[in-house]
Amino acid sequence: MSEKVVIIGSGPAGWSAAIYSARANLEPLVFEGAITGENQENGTLPLGQLNLTTEVENFAGFPAGKLTDFLDTALDEKDRMMLPPNDEKHAITGPELMNLMRQQARNFGTRIITDDVVSVDLSKRPFVVTPRDHEAVEAETLIIATGAKANYLGLESESEYKNRGVSACAVCDGALPMFRNQPLMVVGGGDSAVEEATYLTNFASKVYLVHRRDELRASKIMAERAIRNEKVEIVWNSVVEEVIGDGTKLTGVRLKDTVANTEQVVDCAGMFVAIGHTPNVAFLDGQVETDEAGYIQWSTPFRTYTSVEGVYAAGDVADDYYRQAITSAGTGCMAALDAERFLASQE
Ligand code: NAP
Repeated sequence: MSEKVVIIGSGPAGWSAAIYSARANLEPLVFEGAITGENQENGTLPLGQLNLTTEVENFAGFPAGKLTDFLDTALDEKDRMMLPPNDEKHAITGPELMNLMRQQARNFGTRIITDDVVSVDLSKRPFVVTPRDHEAVEAETLIIATGAKANYLGLESESEYKNRGVSACAVCDGALPMFRNQPLMVVGGGDSAVEEATYLTNFASKVYLVHRRDELRASKIMAERAIRNEKVEIVWNSVVEEVIGDGTKLTGVRLKDTVANTEQVVDCAGMFVAIGHTPNVAFLDGQVETDEAGYIQWSTPFRTYTSVEGVYAAGDVADDYYRQAITSAGTGCMAALDAERFLASQE
């Protein structure tokens, strides 16, 4: 028997779609992704990008307050211990928010498979969804909420030192002993870069923020937080030419000043790349229309419809513009309502 709604992805879009479709008695099945080394390296582990971040200050409904008691009921003891302590001063962290969303979806009967979807067949309905380590399932409707993953610079020397000093996630790796009290580098000029630079000052002796232009893209409030921080030094108009190491670990980065046309080697123990994202659409194999960068296109304004009837897209996989947790959650809700209405129209 085919599933009424299959949701691929486990960020805010996926769980919001699950909560809404579960409450509509559609018994959604979520493929939340697999816990593998490859997904860890790509930043595509279950619970999405929010699970790789620290405090979330802009998700409506989560003012500072004591969430500890609520979290204790949402997580089993083992998972609860894995989360950073939630003191009474902060609002909520990304990992806490994601675990709460997941629990909320489960409370309404959402079923979850911890596996990656490797391919889909959208040529006829029911669609066929094939995961890596589980049996394929048939789906009347499909909600794609697979998000986006961090980009790297693409240098050979960068690949060589991945996990040996090169990272695309300060929150995941910044506290590692190899980075403690060492100079570190962040590459990029957006909100992620300034946020990561500020965060890394908790561990580093100094943080170089390297940006290819002379002006940050980041929002003013976040940029100022980084600029004000005495441990952060911004290196303007500079690009990474080479990651340098001793064969085992990263020891420095060769930068080129694009205005002065000069080069310098900056000694550091880590390089954190924060230069934007690429949508996770490889498993679709071109069966859904995307833009040039791979973001799924909504076929109708203000609807989550894709180019395939019965297939909906929500969250960062279809959004290269807003890319916020709250907008992802909103479009996840929209996708669930779109799927529900489509199913009703078919009866
Ligand atoms: P982004 O805004 O797209 O910024 C990417 C940055 O990387 C830009 O400064 C860009 O330079 C630079 N860049 C891109 N390719 C590069 C390359 N090959 N070499 C060197 N530099 C390169 O990405 P983001 O910072 O990840 O933010 C994405 C979205 O998430 C944004 O909408 C942001 O507001 C949001 N966000 C919000 C928060 C928060 O509110 N707490 C935190 C993080 C992110 P140019 O400026 O020259 O293009």
